Amino acid sequence: MALKVVLLSHSPDPERAVATAARNCYSPRDIESIDEGWSGEEVRKMVARVRDAGHLSTFEHTMFTFGVSGVSRALTHQLVRHRHMSFEQRSQRYVKVKGQFEYITPPSIAARPDVKAKFDALMESIAGFYQDALAAGTPAEDARFALPNAAETQIVITANARALLDFFSLRTCNNAQWEIRELAFAMLRLVKRVAPDLFVRAGATCVRGYCNEPNGPECPRYVVVANPVAARRRAGLSEDGPERSSDAVIADHQTAAMAG
Ligand SMILES: Cc1cc2nc3c(=O)[nH]c(=O)nc-3n(C[C@H](O)[C@H](O)[C@H](O)COP(=O)(O)OP(=O)(O)OC[C@H]3O[C@@H](n4cnc5c(N)ncnc54)[C@H](O)[C@@H]3O)c2cc1C
Repeated sequence: MALKVVLLSHSPDPERAVATAARNCYSPRDIESIDEGWSGEEVRKMVARVRDAGHLSTFEHTMFTFGVSGVSRALTHQLVRHRHMSFEQRSQRYVKVKGQFEYITPPSIAARPDVKAKFDALMESIAGFYQDALAAGTPAEDARFALPNAAETQIVITANARALLDFFSLRTCNNAQWEIRELAFAMLRLVKRVAPDLFVRAGATCVRGYCNEPNGPECPRYVVVANPVAARRRAGLSEDGPERSSDAVIADHQTAAMAG
C-alpha cells in the first residue's frame, strides 16, 4: 500500500494569521481593527520579521490538518511522540480487519525476493491466527496483540506551524527513519504550497546551514543542501535564495535524503 497524504483543512490564510498575531505585539491598533488594512507585502514583511527573529509563538496561531494512509504502525509509534500535534488513528479495537490485513513492506525487504517471500508468509500466518482468534470469540482488542508493526494504519494529524517546524526539523533529517521521513517530506510539500513564507526554511537543520549530528559531514544531504546554504551565508547573501521556495528543489532534497 502506498503512502497517501492529503491536507484536509488549514487556517484560511495562515500567513496573515501569523502577521496579525505579531501586529498585536507591535501596534497600538484596537483589537477590532487588528486584522484590517494588510497588503500582501506587509504580511510578508511581518512574517519575515518574526520568523527571522525566532518569535515563533506567532506561528502557533495557525492550524493544518492532514489525512494520512498507507503507513505502518511502526511509523505512527514514532509520530505520536510529537507532543504538540493532535492525532486520531484508526482503531484496531473497533475496526476489525477481514481476511489479510494490509501491511507495509520496507524497501530493504522488498529488494530481496527471498526475504520478502518469508515476510509475506509471516504476514499471512499472522492474519490466519488473527481471523481464527476472532472466530473463536477473542475480542478484537485482544486479537490485535498478534498484529505486527508492519500493519497498515490511517491517521489524522492536526498541528500548528511551529509544531510542524519542529517535526520537519527532526523527521526530514537523514537520520530519521525512512518511512516517517517520506511522510514528513510529503507534509512539508503540502504546507509549502499554502504558506510558503512560514515554511521557507523548514526542514532538517542542514537546510539552515548546519548539522549537529556526529555523522553530518558524511551525510549526502548535508553536502547537497547545507553547503550551498552555508556558501550563501559566507558570501553575505540571504540564506533564502529563490530556490528555497521551489517544489523542485524540495523534491531534490527528498531524493538526496532517500539516497541516504
Ligand atoms: C533520529 C531519531 C531517533 C530517535 N530514537 C528514539 C529512540 O531510540 N527511543 C525513543 O524513545 N525515542 C526516539 N526518538 C524520539 C525522540 O526521543 C522524541 O520523542 C521525538 O523526536 C519527539 O521530539 P521532541 O521530544 O523533541 O519534541 P516534541 O514532543 O515534538 O516537542 C517539540 C519541542 O517542544 C519542547 N517540549 C515538548 N515537551 C516538553 C517538555 N515536557 N519539557 C520541555 N520541553 C518540551 C521541546 O523543545 C521539544 O523539542 C528518536 C527521534 C529521532 C528523530
